Amino acid sequence: MKNVISRTISGIIEIGRGMSTIMKHFFRKPITQEYPENKPELNASFRGRLALLTDNEGSDVCIGCKSCMKVCPCDDLIQIETSKDPETKKLKIEQFTIDIGRCIFCGNCTEVCPVNAIVTTDRFELADYSRESLVLDKKGLTLGPEESERVRDRKERNSK
Ligand code: SF4
Ligand code: SF4
Repeated sequence: MKNVISRTISGIIEIGRGMSTIMKHFFRKPITQEYPENKPELNASFRGRLALLTDNEGSDVCIGCKSCMKVCPCDDLIQIETSKDPETKKLKIEQFTIDIGRCIFCGNCTEVCPVNAIVTTDRFELADYSRESLVLDKKGLTLGPEESERVRDRKERNSK
């Protein structure tokens, strides 16, 4: 009988503890997010999908030095084709492809770029139905002037 009473008392105490935990969290703001309706706010240093930036006029920032291609640890992941502009003698970017499906997002290419033309962005939803569609060409990689500016601001925040 004594055993039954002590078990009942300890059961009531445990229920009381459980109820107090529920009440403690009942009025708190939820920390879970309704993804994908609400996108998470990512840290400025997050390394997502790569992109090529343009200047205010929408021209390529890339100078075709191919340093990113050489520093990438994954064979042939970045491929760049250039031609020499006969007037300016500068290199023109004919094609720039990145196989995002094989990219390990190490950020080496962005660090070595002398003109900050290639950057990681906060885009992380990269799933697709085929490996081929993960090979992005110059058009798919290049951001317009406004988007480029937004990415530069993000990089600026990161460096502080
Ligand atoms: S982030 Fe790393 S793996 Fe991806 S393209 Fe750049 S250097 Fe290559
Ligand atoms: S993205 Fe940067 S590192 Fe790569 S080729 Fe262009 S200028 Fe050179």
